[in-house]
Amino acid sequence: MTLGIDRNTTFARLQERLESREGRGLSLFLIHVSRLRQLNRSLGYRAVGGLLNELEERLMRVARDPERVERIGNADYLVTLDGLMNRGHAQLAALKMLDELSKPLQREDRLYHLDAAIGIWMAMEGDAGDAETVLQQLEWAITEARQAPEKYALWDGEKDEPDTRLTDWDIENDLRQAADRGELSMFYQPQQDLASGEISGAEALIRWRNGDRGYVRPDIFIPIAERSALIEEVTRWTLHTVLREMEALPNLPQISINLSVQVLQQGIVEDLRSALSLWSVDPARVVLEVTESAVISNLEQAVDALRELRALGVGLSIDDFGTGYSTMTYLRQLPATELKIDRSFVDNMLHFSMDEHIVKSLIHMARGAGLRTVAEGVENEETRQRLQQLGCDVIQGYHLARPMPLEDCSRWLEDRLRT
Ligand code: C2E
Ligand code: CA
Ligand code: CA
Repeated sequence: MTLGIDRNTTFARLQERLESREGRGLSLFLIHVSRLRQLNRSLGYRAVGGLLNELEERLMRVARDPERVERIGNADYLVTLDGLMNRGHAQLAALKMLDELSKPLQREDRLYHLDAAIGIWMAMEGDAGDAETVLQQLEWAITEARQAPEKYALWDGEKDEPDTRLTDWDIENDLRQAADRGELSMFYQPQQDLASGEISGAEALIRWRNGDRGYVRPDIFIPIAERSALIEEVTRWTLHTVLREMEALPNLPQISINLSVQVLQQGIVEDLRSALSLWSVDPARVVLEVTESAVISNLEQAVDALRELRALGVGLSIDDFGTGYSTMTYLRQLPATELKIDRSFVDNMLHFSMDEHIVKSLIHMARGAGLRTVAEGVENEETRQRLQQLGCDVIQGYHLARPMPLEDCSRWLEDRLRT
């Protein structure tokens, strides 16, 4: 890795790369790591420095050459790759980097999560670009990336503004055929009621096993589906698969299904109604999860559909709660039955008193509104106990069980009933 926090060095090196590329493809990735301030405060600079070193090593592994990774600011890195053929490849590289960066970092016996966003710039045929302009365009892209759900964005040299529509990205095409090829499946992750100790439900999580790529994580392909009408097909497939598979899980009181906000339109109410009747599932056994931030950013469109869905008799859970606006004003407009406390708070609550305080107030707030609380991402016994003390209703996380294929989940439930 080269340390180029000195701006002149960064400039000079970038200029040299741009000039010497001689028609070969050159792709630049500006990576911004967030949440560092918060960590500096609680861990100290030295410890955070150690975490950053590990991040850098991960980037170097993706880049395959330390010389291609340059730290250009306190929380910014510039990765230079050549030989990427098209935008799809550049996006694949960005996804790989995000994947690496999102893995938790261990410091002594604690795990930390950092958030990252990536702005991408690709040299177009013929244009050399000067370092100054290129860095400016990368800044545009990174600003876009930080707001995009997929956390990356590409500067499109042919337009005046960055483009996040991924035209030559074949993951979209592959996904279109995934259901027909039998590559999609649902995994189930159990939830436990803390007061009774009983298994109270499970969350259904989609998995895509692609022939060439292996398992593709939903947080990579769902945002791609959400940008096109594809999400509607994926949702219909999910609803039917889960409701059909519930027959194999007779001991499971409830099932939670994730819905993207893009599908909250008239059609979804009909889709759910017909799936419920086709598979003869009692609506009281179904909970729909929508994320707080997505609902709030589309409040008017979402609320009507959510009310109609609730009217079918299903429950409604507000997912990733606490990461959005989470004010009572918004909450009161939503016909929710459950709040799902975001994993990031649960994860850190034993180490940071602020996070524990947030969890405590969220539980308190939910109680006041008559809503059930589910804590997700519970990874150890201490966290489970602390949540119980705080009055949380339900937990979900690796501590109880990982998401499992249908057969495994069914066996897991039977084993638990037997003991
Ligand atoms: P989510 O709804 O917040 O789902 C919880 C995620 O946390 C899941 O990741 C789950 O595997 C993971 N998880 C569960 N317990 C633990 C734990 O103890 N520790 C850690 N570190 N992680 C845990 P997954 O399955 O990769 O799903 C990611 C996201 O993709 C979901 O986030 C959800 O937003 C979306 N998603 C998944 N399935 C569907 C689906 O069928 N439809 C839609 N629209 N979105 C889906
Ligand atoms: Ca969820
Ligand atoms: Ca969640």
